[in-house]
Amino acid sequence: MPETLVIPVDPLHPDPARVAQAAAVIRAGELVAFPTETVYGLGANALDEAAVERIFAAKERPAADPLIVHIAAPEELEQIVAEVPYAAWRLAERFWPGPLTLVLPKGTAIPAAVCAGGKTVAVRMPAHAIPLALIRAAGVPVAAPSANRFSRPSPTTAQHVLDDLAGRVEIILDGGPTPIGVQSTVLDLTADPPTVLRPGGLSLEALRAVLPTVTVTRRYLALDTVEGAASPGMLLKHYSPRAPLYLYSGPPEAITAALRNEALRRAAEGERAGVLIFDEDEARLAGAAAAISLLGPRGDLDQAAARLFAALRELDARGVDAILACDVEPAGAGLAIHDRLLRAAEGKVVLVG
Ligand code: AMP
Ligand code: MG
Repeated sequence: MPETLVIPVDPLHPDPARVAQAAAVIRAGELVAFPTETVYGLGANALDEAAVERIFAAKERPAADPLIVHIAAPEELEQIVAEVPYAAWRLAERFWPGPLTLVLPKGTAIPAAVCAGGKTVAVRMPAHAIPLALIRAAGVPVAAPSANRFSRPSPTTAQHVLDDLAGRVEIILDGGPTPIGVQSTVLDLTADPPTVLRPGGLSLEALRAVLPTVTVTRRYLALDTVEGAASPGMLLKHYSPRAPLYLYSGPPEAITAALRNEALRRAAEGERAGVLIFDEDEARLAGAAAAISLLGPRGDLDQAAARLFAALRELDARGVDAILACDVEPAGAGLAIHDRLLRAAEGKVVLVG
């Protein structure tokens, strides 16, 4: 593969010539990374099995971990799935384009590799002008997982994609930082009741306003059991920085005090502790922690979600020995943040207060 080409594209009004260049790459069976409203995706023609297999190779992703098929209009669902239940149309009407992925019975046009050999397929319509234009120009649905190496934090900038996948993807469309910053909410409509397999950019509260019976799976799988996973986003080891992450949970004041003590204790032992905290705690941690990454003001969880993955990558880049992170209330936008932090911690949770 030649060197990866990074093409700047206006996120609101993508230049048709640049989109056409990327669409030609998709049609040729090769890979294009692009921004969505959630994170950057690594896309290939969803109807071309060989192209889809290139995604798995580039990411070093296990073949048992299925991909999301991206479409440019709700009607395109009919080409992808075997049947569209009424609930899917209602949810699409309300939340598409947007950060909601629907799991439905797989149609015959989609190769088995997209769905990890399973009977269901995950589909969404992204709320971002670049992928919508790309899908339309390519004239095919685009299968795309997040554009990171497997189990690394998801990419929210073109630079993150380049850091993980340089030389492994033909084109990166650089549309700037992604606005939501956590992945889509994955809802399994083949389950009864409909089940959220991965909390994400669309809140559970918003989903329940349309489908009151929606439930959330709490099944966190062990690290080595990719096989048989209902949703690989469920793997406990996921979104991991290189440094071990410890998640501090409890009242904010108790967390701040515990983080300070632990950062000082590690410093006394010659270790560099990085902290992932809200702006309000910066003054208390300055001087104690070797590196500080801020999630924004405590009250703004949308901003925290948008910053989360970049903050984890930033702490890694600063070469810390451990990351001490502050947990959030698992409600509203906080549910997806809590979920990603818990997975990044791989179970290392410290309860304080
Ligand atoms: P990523 O966008 O990298 O998080 O990868 C796509 C995600 O979509 C997977 O990790 C799963 O959570 C989800 N997914 C894709 N296909 C299916 C499916 N058939 N059933 C359940 N979840 C799926
Ligand atoms: Mg991913």
